Amino acid sequence: MQRQEFRHLISVEDARKLVAALDIPTRTKTVPLIRSYGSYLAEPIYSTVDVPAFSRASMDGYAVIASDTYSAREDEPVSLNLTGSIAAGDISALGVIDGSAVDIATGAVMPAGANAVVMVEYTDIADESDDHAYSRHDCHNNSNSDTYSTCNTVLVKKAVSPNENIMHAGSDIMIGEMVLSEGTHLTSREIGVLAAVGLDEVVVRNMRVGIISTGNELVAPGTPLGTGKIYDSNSYAVAAAVEECGAEAVLYGIVSDSFESMRTSLIKASAECDLMLSSGGTSAGTSDILHKLIGTEGEILAHGINIKPGKPVVIAHYNNTPIFGLPGYPTSALTIFNEFVAPKIKACLNPARSPIHSDAPQTSDAKDARIRAVLSEDIRSDGRMSLQPVSLVRGKAYPVHKGSGAVTTLTDADGFIEIPADVEYLEAGSPVYVTPF
Ligand code: AMP
Ligand code: MG
Repeated sequence: MQRQEFRHLISVEDARKLVAALDIPTRTKTVPLIRSYGSYLAEPIYSTVDVPAFSRASMDGYAVIASDTYSAREDEPVSLNLTGSIAAGDISALGVIDGSAVDIATGAVMPAGANAVVMVEYTDIADESDDHAYSRHDCHNNSNSDTYSTCNTVLVKKAVSPNENIMHAGSDIMIGEMVLSEGTHLTSREIGVLAAVGLDEVVVRNMRVGIISTGNELVAPGTPLGTGKIYDSNSYAVAAAVEECGAEAVLYGIVSDSFESMRTSLIKASAECDLMLSSGGTSAGTSDILHKLIGTEGEILAHGINIKPGKPVVIAHYNNTPIFGLPGYPTSALTIFNEFVAPKIKACLNPARSPIHSDAPQTSDAKDARIRAVLSEDIRSDGRMSLQPVSLVRGKAYPVHKGSGAVTTLTDADGFIEIPADVEYLEAGSPVYVTPF
């Protein structure tokens, strides 16, 4: 069988342009809030509740009428009559009138009549019968008698002004307010806000990404490994990478190196997904048939990019669905995913904020995040744009030499340095910029 040559390696820049022009549809889906991490909101979120829903104490202390405390000093405290206590979550009929106070916990509903909270730190508890000052703690632990029969007076040692230490209803979020805009990327902070307005599910943008691993040598993790076989790591790594981008990974498992089984999987995945990612079978070996199948039954847009690692990439359409045929080597597959596929998925899920869909320079974010370091040893490059994995120790960049065939290359590295296609040699001690993973 004739071997496939990479006659038309395209440059990294042309590959980026080609990927930017790909039309990949997205859809929406409703997900449980707890599963929404990393997704992009498909619609703006308006609150249907006030947060907090009631005016509440923002400190542990005593609910008072502020004007009762105006003359309070450390050495000349004001005595207020303690009429009871309200804990967080209590429904209490207690009110505060002139000269009285109610013991209140952080988060508890403010009693009627009170307009401020004195922090417990600025108070003492006094028993009127013996003029003895107790701490609030003593009173709460006085289990032999009703707390407020012995601790019935609070001594306020510092004045408070109206509204002090109160969080008013709706002061955090007002009913009807837009709390998050469409396209917002959901992280722990945003998910907390969504829960606070009472949502337990949310509509997010979605792209279904079908993942196919090709190769007769592959077996699924969790099953016995026969002679000459290796575990399929790409399905897992690529699926995780897809989910990191906020898209949905749909696994189609391992496909053998036969036209028939590849065709079956590609037809199924292309019908069910917005984008397909295969790995393996894109190179020049006789069993590398993926690109041959797509070449006859689909449309190949590019075969081979002038990059290291990851040269044997196929970018194509099959059954009207875009497909990236990633290289089989795990490090190559992930590198190509990170360089070309991840920015594209993010741009599709969040077009408004993406440089890939605007005139802004595409890699500015990654460039801002780069770390300046000094190269630890000489490196030779081969005329391809090279992404050399390095580990970073105290400002020195140490190349990781395991190669793209090793699955641990990327876990041993902290990031990579980009060596342009026209640079053949970098001397030890050269300043370099490390893009962290
Ligand atoms: P290929 O491009 O199919 O020739 O694969 C290149 C190398 O990557 C071979 O050593 C394959 O065994 C390996 N490889 C291909 N697919 C996977 C996979 N899913 N997981 C781990 N290694 C793989
Ligand atoms: Mg193969």
